[in-house]
Order: sequence, then structure tokens, then C-alpha cells
Amino acid sequence: MYKNAKALCGFLDGSHSAYHAAANTAAALDEAGYTRLSEGDRWVLAPGGKYYTCRGGSALIAFRLPEGDPKGFLIAAAHTDRPSFKLKFRPELPGTYCRVSTERYGGAILSTWLDRPLSVAGRVLVETEQGAEARLVDIDRDLLLIPSVAIHMNRQANDGYKWDLTRDLTPLFGGKDDTGKFGKLLEKAAGGKILSHDLYLYVRQKATVWGGEKQFISAQGLDDLQCLYGCLQGFLHAGTGRSIPVLCAFDSEEVGSCSTQGADSTFLEDVLSRIAEGTVSGKNTLLQNSFLVSADNAHAVHPNHPELADPENAPVMGQGVVLKFNSNLRYCTDGLGAGIFHRICKTAKVPVQSYYNRADIPGGSTLGHISIAHISVPTADIGLPQLAMHSCYETAHLKDSAYLTAAMEAFFGSSLTITENGFSVE
Ligand code: ZN
Repeated sequence: MYKNAKALCGFLDGSHSAYHAAANTAAALDEAGYTRLSEGDRWVLAPGGKYYTCRGGSALIAFRLPEGDPKGFLIAAAHTDRPSFKLKFRPELPGTYCRVSTERYGGAILSTWLDRPLSVAGRVLVETEQGAEARLVDIDRDLLLIPSVAIHMNRQANDGYKWDLTRDLTPLFGGKDDTGKFGKLLEKAAGGKILSHDLYLYVRQKATVWGGEKQFISAQGLDDLQCLYGCLQGFLHAGTGRSIPVLCAFDSEEVGSCSTQGADSTFLEDVLSRIAEGTVSGKNTLLQNSFLVSADNAHAVHPNHPELADPENAPVMGQGVVLKFNSNLRYCTDGLGAGIFHRICKTAKVPVQSYYNRADIPGGSTLGHISIAHISVPTADIGLPQLAMHSCYETAHLKDSAYLTAAMEAFFGSSLTITENGFSVE
């Protein structure tokens, strides 16, 4: 079994919101001796130094500098968010029962959210004398539930039911007399008067390892915390090359990445510019020898629905990292990107599977093509094969986590040179 299974489950179970995922990534970097930088301060970066900076509380970029003048940036990007429901500003809905008002966040498979204990996690702004202080909140108990309508009252429940988002997905908190208690409970958890919040529902079911050989892992948020965790482990354990390893954890991928801390923000280019200021080569030269691995989970062939996959390029769980292709550039892997990624995985002895959407099923998009609009470097779109993407409880294979860690360790420890005629990796 994957030796880090317990640690991976711990990371997943501790990251019930994008804010918690960023905080847990930051904690791992702190433990490894990285210095936290504030974007509001002047940065003094030393050769051999290890740093990270956070933006918006839910995104983070970490990097370390080689001793000599660097060759370029080796970047891996994953995302911290997942489909969920965001609590409205004043969430309590009084009535016969006390319910909580939410708005859908991203493209969840709605049916998976019903009839299971839920809770709330995210960030709150607690009022202080002169403003507010951001604090993380995770109400660590079964608190809410969205009940199904009985089959006797909804005979189409098993025949492609059309959801009414406002009505069908509103969680139950308590009875008529419990009005006012939800807000109080949040304030108690926050330790002060809440001015505003970014709070999301999460399911209470913990991550589990299962299957005949204990090879599978099921958990919430595997898309994309499985990739984030694998990239982080590879980043922390890689040797030193002559390039600058950069780890990005972006927020907002599930809603198009357009936030101050998403892939469609200036976050990455701002950080790379500040790193480049202290180098002899300068940013434009560094970018010529740079590469982006956009790591976001991929669809494995479904055991009951193999017909939904491309017939020749259907990744199987447990058989390696997935390299995603799309000639219309929803995935931006081209020949050069694929070549570099294959070369790195060959060094790391990691198998690579190819993914194409079935020709008549458009599929999703991801971080890569959004990020390269800001930082235009060769890119490989990759992921780990998983089932039930955007269910509140997803399934993947532990072996693939080990493969990603090994691939990222090789990637971050290498030195890449890209010329007009090809590339070389040392
Ligand atoms: Zn994703």
C-alpha cells in the first residue's frame, strides 16, 4: 500500500475548504523550514532560500532558489477548491423548520449531497476594534442534512429528476425554536462577532482506504487535493537542480479561476516577477527555460460505462499519471509539453497514460490554458485517474498518488533547457 496513505487521508480530512487546504499546505512548508513572505512587504531573497506567500487566504505559491543564477522556473499548479455550496450572507431561514440558505459553488453532482450529515468550514471575518480579523472555522460535528423527498411523493426520483436548486438543496438545521442558534454557533466557533464570511458545506464522511487489496481511496475533494498533495510531497523532497521549483495552489478553479487568487489572476506572474528581480538573467530569459505542469485530476474509464471513454485513450486507476490532450486546447499539452513530461516520468520510472475526451463528449477544462494566458510557457496538463468527479465523495487509486509524488520529485529536482530545436533535462 502507498506508504503515505495515512498522511494523505489526514490532509484530505483536515482540508474541508480551500482555506483549510491552503493552511495545511502552508503548515507543511513551515515544518520544512520555508519562510512565509507577505505580498505587502519588500522581499529580500537569498540564494538557496526557501519561501512561500499566500493570497486571499485560500491560495499559495512556494518556491526555492538555487545557489547560482537560475535557468528558469519549473512550475506545478493544482487547485484548493471543490464543488460545494456557499452559505449566503445571512444564512438562517426561519419557518416550520430552521434551514440554512446556500448558493451552489461549481458543478457538483447534486444527488450525492442528500441524506448525509454535513457541516460548515471556511473563513470568517471577526470584528476587531479597528476592523476585522480573518479566522478559519470548521464546525467539527454533524450539523446539517439535506433530506430527500420520499419516493412515494416523487415517483420520478429514479428517472432523471430535474433539481430545483433553491428548494431541493436547502439543508435542515433545526426546528422552529432554533432560529438564531446557527449564527450563535458560528460566532462561538469563531470566537467573536462575525462581520462577514466565506463558508462552505462539506460532507462529514472521512477519507477511507478500501478494496480487495486496499488499493482505492475515497474522500471528498480528491479533485484536486490528491494532485495538490502529490505535488507538495514531490516539491518538498526533490533534490536541487539549477531551475527554480515553484508550487502553486490556486483557488476558484471550479468557477472559472477568475478571482484575485485563481489561475486567471496576476498571482503567479507577480510572484515570478519578484523572484526574477534579484537574478542576473531577468524574467524574460528565465521564462524561455520554464515549464508548467497543470495538475488536475482526470477521468478514469468507468467500470460500468467504458463506452463513455475514448476507445484508445481511457486511463485506468492504478496505472499511472494521466497526460491530457485536446487539439482545441482545452488542455494545452502539445508535442513539446508531452515530450518534456514523458522524459521526466521516464527518469522517475513513472508510467504515463494518455487521455482524450471521447470525440462527441466535450469534457471539462482546467488550470493550464488559463494560466498560460498570464505566464506563456510550454505546458503539460496532467492529473490522476479518478471516478465520480464532482461527487461529494470521489474515488481514486493510492498507487497513482505514489506515481505523482515520484514524478514531481524528479521534475522539481531537474534543470531544464529549452532551445528553438528541442529541449534537454538534466
Ligand atoms: Zn479539478
